This record gives sequence, C-alpha cells and structure tokens, in this order.
Amino acid sequence: MISTAPKKEKAILIGLILKNQLKEEADEYLDELQFLALTSGAHTTKVFIQKMDTPHPATFVGKGKINEIKQFVKENEIDMAIFDDDLEATQIRNIERILECKILDRSNLILDIFASRARTSHAKTQVELAQYQYLLPRLTRMWTHLERQKGGIGMRGPGETQIETDRRIIKQKINLLKKKLIKIDNQKIAQRSNRGNMVRVALVGYTNVGKSTIMNILSKSDVFAENKLFATLDTTVRKVVINSIPFLLTDTVGFIRKLPHQLIESFKSTLDEVREADVLIHVVDVSQTSFNDHYDVVNETLNDLLQTEKPTIMVFNKIDKINKNKLDLNIEQLKKSWLSKINNKHVFISATNKLNLDQLREMLHIETKIIHKNRFPYNR
Ligand code: GDP
Ligand code: MG
Repeated sequence: MISTAPKKEKAILIGLILKNQLKEEADEYLDELQFLALTSGAHTTKVFIQKMDTPHPATFVGKGKINEIKQFVKENEIDMAIFDDDLEATQIRNIERILECKILDRSNLILDIFASRARTSHAKTQVELAQYQYLLPRLTRMWTHLERQKGGIGMRGPGETQIETDRRIIKQKINLLKKKLIKIDNQKIAQRSNRGNMVRVALVGYTNVGKSTIMNILSKSDVFAENKLFATLDTTVRKVVINSIPFLLTDTVGFIRKLPHQLIESFKSTLDEVREADVLIHVVDVSQTSFNDHYDVVNETLNDLLQTEKPTIMVFNKIDKINKNKLDLNIEQLKKSWLSKINNKHVFISATNKLNLDQLREMLHIETKIIHKNRFPYNR
C-alpha cells in the first residue's frame, strides 16, 4: 500500500559555540531548535556544531565546515538546513548557493509554526505582519535566481528596481496590516472592558511548561494542550470560582529564547492580557535542567513590559518527572539562589498527576480574595 501521509522533510541543524559560551549551553539551544523543527514537521538527521569566536560574515560557519555540510546534504538528500541564529541576507544567499537546499533560521521556524497554528483573524494578522517585517530586510534572497541569470552584473540594474518595487509593496502591506490590527485591538479593548471589574489572573511562562494544562484543571475546560511548542497561539479566558471568589483566568502564549522581535511586538494581545492582569501565575518546568534560564527569559520580558511588579505565584510544575532526591536538591538550590529573594508565594506541583493542586488553589484564593475585597467592598 502506498502511504498518503506527507513525507517528513529532512533537516540538519547548525549552531555555533561562541566565545564565552559553554558547550552545554549551545547543546541546549540546539535541542530546543530540534524540538522546534519537530513541531514544524521536520525530521532532524544531524546536528553540526562549530566553535567560533563570532559567526563567519559570509557563511556563518567556517569554510571547512560549510564544505563538510555540503557533502552531507548531497549524500543524504537533505531538504533544509536550519541555523540556530538569524542570518543576514548575504549569508542566506551565499549558503543557499553552496548547500543548494532550503535555508532557514530560528526566527523562520518560529514564524512558520506560528503561521500554522494561528486560528483567529487576530492571530493570523499578527503572524502575517511579523512575517513581512522579517522579510523586508532580507528581500535580496528572492532575487538570487535573477542575479544568477545576469551573472551578478551591476547593483543598479533592473534587479535592484524590482527589489525597490517589492519593498514598496511590502511596506504598504505592513501599514495595512498594522491598521487592521489597531481595529481588532480596539474591538478587544471593548471586549475586555465588558468583562467589568472582575479580578484577572494570567498564566505566564516559557513554552511547554504546562500553562494550558493548569488552565484546564483550574477552569475544568478543554484548552488545547500538547507536547509541542506553542500549541496554543491565542489567549484564552475562562471564568473560575474558588471558594466563592470569582476571577478570570487567562492562558497566554509561551515565551521562548531568541523569539523574533517582530513577534514580541506584534503579539500585543498576550502582552495586554499580562499587563492588565491583577495576579500572575508564573509556571516553570522543574524537570528541565535549564529552568533557571527559562525563568530569566520570562522575567526579563515581563520586566520590559510592566512598570510595576504584580503579585506573582511561582508554580514549579512537573515534579512527577524528577526523583525525590533531585527535587530536594533543586529546592535547596532554588532557595539559595533566588526563591528567598522574590517571595514565599511558590508551590511545587504536578498538573498531570494532580499533586499539590489544593495548595495552588489555596494560594490563588488568598491573592484573588484580597483584590476582590478591595474592588467590591460593599458586597457582603
Ligand atoms: P504550555 O505550552 O505551557 O501551555 O504547556 P501544555 O499545558 O501544553 O503542556 C505541555 C506538555 O507538558 C503536555 O504534553 C502536557 O501533558 C505536559 N505536562 C503538563 N504538566 C505536566 C506535569 O505536571 N507532569 C508531566 N510529566 N507532564 C506535564
Ligand atoms: Mg499552551
């Protein structure tokens, strides 16, 4: 029988260990890149890592390495080469010529995943805008074929004019999309104001830590959760009542390292939800060795976003995935490093195995009650 399933594209990953960087760190980035590749439907065949002080200006990796990669691509019929860092337009063009396969970078991959996951017109418009903004400074790559025909003659020929025309069209498109987003944003503002004064709680955190799973448990709803990066793109809001105090709980898009900045800017609705929240639940996946790093990424983004600190409950999730000794050790280290500095509002849970969830509910109740009582002093 002939399989009708689409053939998985074969990918190789390429990353650098830069000056002042540990190998473990580079490995972790590449693991994450592999996870991103898998999420977008590609199968990773091999990972290439090179130690270099700075990326090579022409080919990202060195000359010997790019030839080694070229050989591998040819022998194994690789469909695409994915680079862990953003490439310059000239690098893309050079590497495309040498490897003769699709060239992507981390931003491309994230944008691609976002595009395939966007469901609402709001999310679709935001992704489209981010894609055009990403494309604009890299337009030259689309004209490699043209330049090849012309033998690379002249920088001011018709090729250049064509690029200028394209730039103009894309700039117009970007303006149009921005206007469309403002309109949708205004609708959203109206929707949010209809929610009245209810206490608002937002789940934040790195991608794939269990935010949607916790959302489902607390609100007994059915938000899409799966072991993929960015399973959900749109923010979801549900009403939750704990011990007769009602509040609105929002599930947000997760953060990730090296998120294309076009996406940060355009994912306003997630950021708005976070900004307007009264309480944050910051979820961390303690089973990941790099969870400290993940915490920093999320925290930095939040700090950029918020003028003042918000009451935050730290949730250390997936404790079922680590053994007891390691968990105790982790807690010890956490207390030493930063837990004592932030606050005492933290809880270790397993969302899937339903461990310590009552503790989380109790903490949420305490936080929401304070705000609720302040806001509705005459009730009861
Ligand atoms: P989100 O990206 O933060 O919304 O994460 P999801 O809620 O989609 O969860 C990502 C994956 O982690 C899913 O496969 C969940 O089943 C899994 N997961 C969530 N919580 C736990 C947990 O406590 N323990 C384990 N082992 N897996 C979990
Ligand atoms: Mg989610």
